[in-house]
Parts: sequence; structure tokens; C-alpha cells
Amino acid sequence: DTLRWQQEQFRNRYIELEEISRGRFSVVRRAKDRGTNVEVALKQVTRRRQAQHITQCEYSLLAGMQHVNIIRSMALFDNAPLPGLDTIVLELVRGPLLFTFICEHDEYTEDTVKTYSRQLMSALSWLHQKDISHLDIKPENVMVDLSSSSPVLKLVDFGDSVNTSKSVILPPACLEFASPELVLGQPVGKHTDYWATGVFLYVLLSGVSPFLDDSMEETTANILKCDYCFPDDYFREISVEAKDLVRKLLALVPSQRNSMDQSLTSAWMTTEQKSVVIPSNRLKTFMLRRHPINLPTTPTSPANSEPNTYKSYI
Ligand code: ATP
Repeated sequence: DTLRWQQEQFRNRYIELEEISRGRFSVVRRAKDRGTNVEVALKQVTRRRQAQHITQCEYSLLAGMQHVNIIRSMALFDNAPLPGLDTIVLELVRGPLLFTFICEHDEYTEDTVKTYSRQLMSALSWLHQKDISHLDIKPENVMVDLSSSSPVLKLVDFGDSVNTSKSVILPPACLEFASPELVLGQPVGKHTDYWATGVFLYVLLSGVSPFLDDSMEETTANILKCDYCFPDDYFREISVEAKDLVRKLLALVPSQRNSMDQSLTSAWMTTEQKSVVIPSNRLKTFMLRRHPINLPTTPTSPANSEPNTYKSYI
């Protein structure tokens, strides 16, 4: 009866609209709250063994979030809309993945990378102060909301996040962004986010992946040796301050990595560099490799065209 009651509560409250995206274990849909008329995102997670516990953890972590760059959550429904599905009601992000958004123009600048990196680092710094590690920083979990006058980065997917006071061992979900300790099955924590942020920054600055190689074995070996470089073809124009920050995030020894607060006060973040233009074709290829079907197939809009509204994404 409680089950039916939950399902009824859910149906009375939300009108489900179209599917926005699919993750490994979940479907995210747009929906409307009948009472308030506010649009929300419903993350519906299939209940596997122990999955209810995982969804509850994700919800409780999110319920305490109050940062403009972190997705908010409003409610959790067990076994709703159907038995075997749990639904987290989330603030709707009205926009695409950050990388997809950046790829809409033929070029972007190092300054743009700095603006978004600052937002990502500030979200992570806030989380880390609360002793939470995200542990799944990758392009699919960094969105941009276009509903206000300037784009706002939104960090999503707290399904892997943990309270850092306990040390946990996680299988690497996404090898390209995984740190050596994650690959080795050693305890992970804030320093795991520092590394992933370093990879994220490297990719944004160059459009290429620092450790990716021809096979998983070779990629793993590169990560474990912290074997990467700044090829001239991609980094010639990029400021020494930006590269210095990447270097400090991608340190093999976790305790030697820059924290988010150190990164936010780094020379790159606090001084002005000459404006460097980065062509978006490499980042586009990067995203096409990860999502062969998700990128718009139309030619990129010229830099001076009307900005896309979020409506074109949802
Ligand atoms: P993963 O396989 O990456 O672990 P997941 O099953 O945990 O995925 P999420 O990453 O939370 O699911 O969501 C899947 C996708 O749905 C995201 O990549 C993003 O594109 C989209 N998404 C997530 N949350 C929202 C939101 N609040 N508003 C709009 N879209 C969202």
C-alpha cells in the first residue's frame, strides 16, 4: 500500500515529458511539477542489488548542496513511477554538456577555459570543504545552464560521490579521467578529483586526451607512469601558467597534487594572460569519439550568430 501511495503521489505531482539523456543505470527525463508549474529533471534509476541504498546516498548528498554550480535535488521517490525504479527529482539544467556547448563555435579562447574551470573548481572546493568527493569528473557530468544571461556550469551525477572521511575503493568508471590510485584500486578521495580536474583542463586547453593511447593497457600504463606531455602542435600558444596548473594537478603522488583552493589562487587564475584562440575541431573530435550520435551534425554556427537557446537541447 505504501508502494501504491508513493506511485500515486508521484503521478499526481509530475507530468513526465521527454527523455533528455541516459546514463549507465538511469534515464533522465524532463518533467513538470503540476503544483508549481516548475520544470524539473527526473533521474530514474533502475533498482539493482543494493541500488536503493546507492540512490538514497546520492539523494542525501545532493539534498545538502547549496552551490550555484552544483545541481540541486528536491525529492526522492522509492519505487516510483514503477516498482523497481527510484526517482530523484533534480533541478533541470537547461542546456547541453559544457564540451558540446563549447564546440558550437569554430573557436574558443583560453579565457573561456579559465571561466569554466573556475566554476568547476569552485563547485569542487565547496564539496571538498564538506568532505565529499565527486569521483566521476568527466565531460558527461559537466553541463551548462543557458537560462540566465551568462552560461552557468552545473556539476551533475553524484552517483559515485562519497563522504571522504572514509576511504573507498572504486572501479574506474571512465579510464581517460581516472587517477593512478583509482586504476590501482587504492583508496580514492579529494585528490582523485584533483587529478580528473587536471585531465579535464588539459582536454579543454588542447582538445586532446593526455593519457589516451591505442589500447586500454597502454592508456593504463601511461596513467600509472603519469606519462603525458604538452605537444607543441596543441600547446604552443597556451600560457605557461595554464600548463603549470595542469602539471600541479596531474602529480603522480596524490598528496602532491594542487587542491581546488590552491588551483583557484594559482597564477593562471589570478593573473591575465594574452588572449589565446583555440580551434574547436579537436574538442569536437574528442566528443564524437565518446558520443558518436550525440553531437549536432549540422555545421558549427559562426561565432557571431545568435546563441542557441536551451530549447534546442531539450
Ligand atoms: P553515468 O553513466 O555517467 O554514471 P548516471 O546513470 O549516473 O550516468 P547521470 O550522469 O546523473 O546518470 O545523468 C545522465 C545524463 O543526464 C548526464 O550526462 C546529463 O547529460 C543528463 N542530466 C543529468 N542530470 C541532469 C539535470 N539535472 N538536468 C538535465 N540533464 C541532466
